[in-house]
Amino acid sequence: MDFRLKALTKSIWVFHVSAGSCNNCDIEILDCLTPRFDVERFGIQLVGSVRHADALLVTGAMNKKSIPRLKKIYEQAPKPCVVVACGICAVSQNMFRDSYSMGDPLDKIIPVDVYIPGCPPKPEAIISGIVKLVKKIRGA
Ligand code: SF4
Repeated sequence: MDFRLKALTKSIWVFHVSAGSCNNCDIEILDCLTPRFDVERFGIQLVGSVRHADALLVTGAMNKKSIPRLKKIYEQAPKPCVVVACGICAVSQNMFRDSYSMGDPLDKIIPVDVYIPGCPPKPEAIISGIVKLVKKIRGA
């Protein structure tokens, strides 16, 4: 296993990309950082620059304006970089799928490692998704 991938399982630094979400998913992500759920005790923290990130956490449905920006952000992320689709909009574009402003779904644009469904997913679901991601990286 790539040593950088293995190191990821110890402390995942996350860059959050909101690609057109209604903000409820974003609020649930922030809830994970509050003392109640406190994901920082597992070494998980949000970072302000994608150049420092191990993971991209994407919320919202991909629209035609957000797709080029998302591609650029993914290109700037150091590799290997894992991608988490958070919320049903990021997973499948939800009810917006047939809208005139929508582009391709997230996993047709960049490779997605973990899907966390829900509208919005609760903090417990987000933490469960991260546990699945760590298990996947470790090959467990
Ligand atoms: S999944 Fe639901 S809560 Fe999240 S961005 Fe879409 S509509 Fe909003």
